Amino acid sequence: MDGIVDDIADSGGIEVIIQNEPGKTAPCCPHGPALLFEKTGNGEEKGRRFYACSACRDRKDCNFFQWEDEKISEARMLAREEQIRSKMPSFTHHEYCSRFREIVALPLEQRRFCVDCQLLMLPGEWENHKNHRALSEDITVQRLKRPSLLLRPLENKKSNAQYLFADRSCHFLLDMLAELGFQKILCVGTPRLHELIKLRNMEGKSHTMKSLLLDIDYRYCQFYGQDEFCHYNMFNHHFFNKEAVTFFEEFLSEEGGDKVVMVTDPPFGGLVKPLANSFIRISMTWKKSLNKESGAGELPMIWIFPYFFESRILECFPSFCMLDYQVDYDNHPLYKHGKTGRKQSPVRLFTNLSPKDIILPVDEGYRFCSVCERYVSVGNKHCPKCKTCPSKDGREWRHCDECGRCVKPSWRHCSSCGHCALPDHPCGRSKTGCFNCGSQKHKFRACPKKHNKQMHVEVGRGASCVLKHAAKKPTAKNKKKKRVR
Ligand code: SAH
Ligand code: ZN
Ligand code: ZN
Ligand code: ZN
Ligand code: ZN
Repeated sequence: MDGIVDDIADSGGIEVIIQNEPGKTAPCCPHGPALLFEKTGNGEEKGRRFYACSACRDRKDCNFFQWEDEKISEARMLAREEQIRSKMPSFTHHEYCSRFREIVALPLEQRRFCVDCQLLMLPGEWENHKNHRALSEDITVQRLKRPSLLLRPLENKKSNAQYLFADRSCHFLLDMLAELGFQKILCVGTPRLHELIKLRNMEGKSHTMKSLLLDIDYRYCQFYGQDEFCHYNMFNHHFFNKEAVTFFEEFLSEEGGDKVVMVTDPPFGGLVKPLANSFIRISMTWKKSLNKESGAGELPMIWIFPYFFESRILECFPSFCMLDYQVDYDNHPLYKHGKTGRKQSPVRLFTNLSPKDIILPVDEGYRFCSVCERYVSVGNKHCPKCKTCPSKDGREWRHCDECGRCVKPSWRHCSSCGHCALPDHPCGRSKTGCFNCGSQKHKFRACPKKHNKQMHVEVGRGASCVLKHAAKKPTAKNKKKKRVR
């Protein structure tokens, strides 16, 4: 834990404040306008607001920090601008495109990719990279069409870890969108889906699909034109260059009668509120381009995220529903579909498309529930009492009459807690009240006794639950637990 946001969250919780008032501008870091956070803990600094980087949760990547009311000296301002400039890509998108054309025009044996710099090199540049690892074999046009295989996946777990879709999940998404008649796919942080759409078009399918990738990973500028890729930050809806906005708006317009859908797979550590805010702004741009008044509804969207974020996503998008489909990844240590049979993936699709239209593959273990009118996991048995197929994790859940709802199969009803829980749960520290003093009148966050040191240590686990509702993602440990049980 070494991110500024994490540090502060640890000292008592923080919340993101979404600011969309026109006159109010946030200070910028190399990742565009910073996000405004507010301390929610009970400490002296409760209510104090500060700006921090929107994209990076790791201080090593971006250490931007500024109190909301802080005055910044001229010198610091200049240093900041200098830092922003130094973090810019080496070439403009336009330059990357002409380099690409030059490289494709070279004979095969002169095409080289610097592995260390992640850059397609021109012969005149070889000298500068002579001590770097280079890839010089078989950089075929075919291979250049699969940049997600050529580029090293970004691995920073805290900001932009890239977890690429396994083929079957990617094909499932693509076939489903084609089946539903979408001609334009706005890929927000889904480079592999974008790539697959382009490949599909070359197979001579009856109707071609257009795709625009928005991603913070500017290495993709090397492979795609400005009408195919925008360098974009999805946490603050920031386009890194002005021209990109025009391409984005152009893409969203359905003038040729092409239906648009947005598909996004944000980093899981990401804060839900700022993401939702960006997606709402994308939807508004789409609406505006239709020249229709509010009647147009929402842009069709698919947001790919772990199921334990369900309540937070639904808070932002009440019209969304979570589908049972489990998304698999190639390079994710936890969620990949191993050789030894299927590992359960916690990643799901959240969408405002009608769930009954999204046919989940029977051969992968899904069935149609005619009562719920949606496809569900085979193990997800319909509960007549709850009037739903209640399982979130694909296993068969069990109805508890005392709780009046279905619960995970491993849970047992606990009479002292008054609800179901794991058999080895920390008994007595009911979620409905305060973890610290047991009072039912307030939550831990507002507990007057929580500054008692001893208590604080003891409630460590509870505290992290409170933080989850502020700015914190479930920790790796929590996630693991969720997965196992
Ligand atoms: N499963 C997807 C990849 C998802 S990984 C696929 O196979 O296509 C998350 C993606 O979001 C990565 O491509 C990463 O570069 C991008 N990303 C991370 N942070 C981002 C940000 N702040 N703004 C835009 N894109 C971001
Ligand atoms: Zn930053
Ligand atoms: Zn190099
Ligand atoms: Zn039930
Ligand atoms: Zn129960």
